[in-house]
Amino acid sequence: MYCNYCGKVIQDDAAVCAYCGIRVGASVARKRLVRPRLGRKIAGVCLGCAEYFDIDVTLVRLMWLVVSLMTGVGLIAYPIAWIVMPDEPLLLTAPVGVRVTNP
Ligand SMILES: [Zn+2]
Repeated sequence: MYCNYCGKVIQDDAAVCAYCGIRVGASVARKRLVRPRLGRKIAGVCLGCAEYFDIDVTLVRLMWLVVSLMTGVGLIAYPIAWIVMPDEPLLLTAPVGVRVTNP
């Protein structure tokens, strides 16, 4: 890959550019904000936020609820987050119903 700062070719798994020292791997290694398929209560928005920020999901739900009741922002933000946040990618298990047929 290329360093976004100096444009030089660097190792694909490099976290810091060897030429200019700028951090390059952060965006690649960073967790994506997705809605997990398992453990969600409504749409998994709170669970996704909890996993992203590495905090307790109960705390997120509580905070979201409090903010919703106090300001109403959460009530608007939840459906928006629901639409904007992608579903967690399906785990790559053997596809059900797909059979490999010999020609
Ligand atoms: Zn660089």
